[in-house]
Amino acid sequence: MGNVFRGGGDSFSLSNGGTDVFLDVLTLAVSDLARDAWDYRFAALLTLQDQNVMGRGAVGFDLGEIDWGTTGAERARAKRFVVRAAELALRRHRWEELGYEPPYAEGYLRRFKAMVEGYEPEAHDPAAHDPAAGPAVRHEGLFPGADEAAVASCVRHRVLSALPFWEGCRFCTAS
Ligand SMILES: [Zn+2]
Repeated sequence: MGNVFRGGGDSFSLSNGGTDVFLDVLTLAVSDLARDAWDYRFAALLTLQDQNVMGRGAVGFDLGEIDWGTTGAERARAKRFVVRAAELALRRHRWEELGYEPPYAEGYLRRFKAMVEGYEPEAHDPAAHDPAAGPAVRHEGLFPGADEAAVASCVRHRVLSALPFWEGCRFCTAS
């Protein structure tokens, strides 16, 4: 069992335990870097990667599922955010809060960063933005919309969480 992360023609898989570590360190970085509305939507995507809620081996995502933005500038900014988050995590951002040693986390993060850097976010079909189509329609199926953005911070762990939809953050569900 494991989980697969894809982007364009690239992909890598992690064991279930490796997935937890990868998402732990990425969540710590994303939580402190998030500034723009899009960042909180990406944070929400990360909250959906909680195997204690979704099931072991039932997570993983494809960069192609992400709504990177309508303009080239938006897409470049969004991609840059994800790369910056990986870079911040690679600098062991708040790793002392993990409560465990993540010996392979650096390798996971380097792999992910390379995949994102090599990925070219595509322009989405403008028709998907038609307000007449209603709020339920998104670019892609799995990327959280603005109304589902992870804007709440877990008081105990100080990371973005799926509150109020879920009771706690990924560190809450793991303990
Ligand atoms: Zn928490």
